[in-house]
Amino acid sequence: MFASVSYVTRPRGRLSQLSGRLSPHAYSQTPMAPETVVMKFGGTSVAGADDIKRAAGRIVAAREEGKRVVAVLSARGQTTDDLVAMAQEVSGRPEPREMDMLLSVGERISCALCAMAIHDLGHHAISLTGSQAGIVTDSSHTKARIIDVRADRIREALGDDRIVLVAGFQGVSGDSRDVTTLGRGGSDTTAVAIAAALGASVCEIYTDVAGVFTADPRIVPDARKLGVVSFEEMLEMAASGAKVLQLRSVEYARNHDVRMHCRSSFDGGAGTLVVAEDETMERPLVTAVAHSTEESRVTITGLLDEPGVAGRVFGALAEANVNVDMIIQNEPVAGDRGADLSFTVGRDDQQTALDTISTLEVGDAISTDDAIGKVSIVGAGMRSHPGVAAKVFQVLGANEINIEMIATSPIKISCVIAEDRVPDAVKALHEAFELGADAVRKEEPTGVEHRPKVSP
Ligand code: ADP
Ligand code: ASP
Ligand code: MG
Repeated sequence: MFASVSYVTRPRGRLSQLSGRLSPHAYSQTPMAPETVVMKFGGTSVAGADDIKRAAGRIVAAREEGKRVVAVLSARGQTTDDLVAMAQEVSGRPEPREMDMLLSVGERISCALCAMAIHDLGHHAISLTGSQAGIVTDSSHTKARIIDVRADRIREALGDDRIVLVAGFQGVSGDSRDVTTLGRGGSDTTAVAIAAALGASVCEIYTDVAGVFTADPRIVPDARKLGVVSFEEMLEMAASGAKVLQLRSVEYARNHDVRMHCRSSFDGGAGTLVVAEDETMERPLVTAVAHSTEESRVTITGLLDEPGVAGRVFGALAEANVNVDMIIQNEPVAGDRGADLSFTVGRDDQQTALDTISTLEVGDAISTDDAIGKVSIVGAGMRSHPGVAAKVFQVLGANEINIEMIATSPIKISCVIAEDRVPDAVKALHEAFELGADAVRKEEPTGVEHRPKVSP
């Protein structure tokens, strides 16, 4: 039923010698050490009873190939959204500690149910909460960061020939011993962190699309699946809203040399490997278009024009644990008025940002706009090619889409636009940079021969 893909077995500490310039098929497994795989199943992949059984079947199939299997599961379907809504029904601003107690429930349900399904298939499985699995985090409730994985209990269970199921998205604060959660999409990061701790050969992320595409396939029907994508590009895509992999999971994988493989839960397709840039072989000018409709803009008008003000504003936001994305500020044009400062934050953080800045008394007025969207193009090749930004702006202009903010990195150009124009912008840029299915070359799992080179 599933395409069999073999991976490099990379014991911890030898990662650099084994960088994957060879095809994955060129490596053989050491008979002494059974291969360990971490398989993560997202919300859609465990939504209904049949989905849980399908995931259980896939996990058991890997076990029957002789691998040690740890599976990380997300909450079923819309469970996390439902839990958030439940909290909002009883509180305008739910207490973050209690929010984490509530949200962590969804993943536990999935794990217990999947363990039952695995037992019915004749295998031994044990489900663990994040805390039981040794996922130790800082104390930032609702967006905690993993600081350690104490995987002894997982190792013991694997040694006892169990399949281990770990509730994703959650951990325990090393300081307060409270339950924490890792931010939306955080099960990806749980999976990568466990893969790193166990020295797993691969972290497979099973989801509801066939891999990482040149744009969200829900917006661009002819988006093309990428065979490989570099960590650098995937980081920019995730930071720009391509939620197929959580940003933090990609950072963690890059920092710990974990091979991520994003695949469909529903078929046996080749998926997408996330690899080091020197393994991708090609440098297309533009790899993908990403978008986000989950940010808000905060604007301070009449900002004091003196040294130290920006430091105070963003220092206070950092202290309040608010992530800031784009920032725009200009010197005041007329001498008698202050500057204008605009920045974007996640919509969930809008109120915290407002409250934080209101206490600082640094400007005349603060306003917010949550009808913004962001569209970005990402590609390692644009480092050395002028004219890409100009083309992005021309395409948006030709489609009567007004650009409200611009930010760039060496491999990304992002524009803030009206939220309701985001789908049009994504489609127009995808077409203008010729990223569509027409450009497909033959599917090739190692990704060596798959991406078009696009001229500006
Ligand atoms: P899961 O529940 O499995 O974690 P997510 O909903 O978090 O799944 O992520 C998968 C979704 O990401 C897809 O359904 C797709 O709509 C969206 N997505 C956005 N950008 C991309 C992209 N470039 N490639 C693939 N999927 C994308
Ligand atoms: N259930 C959490 C969410 O919906 C975590 C995850 O799915 O990765 O964000
Ligand atoms: Mg996800």
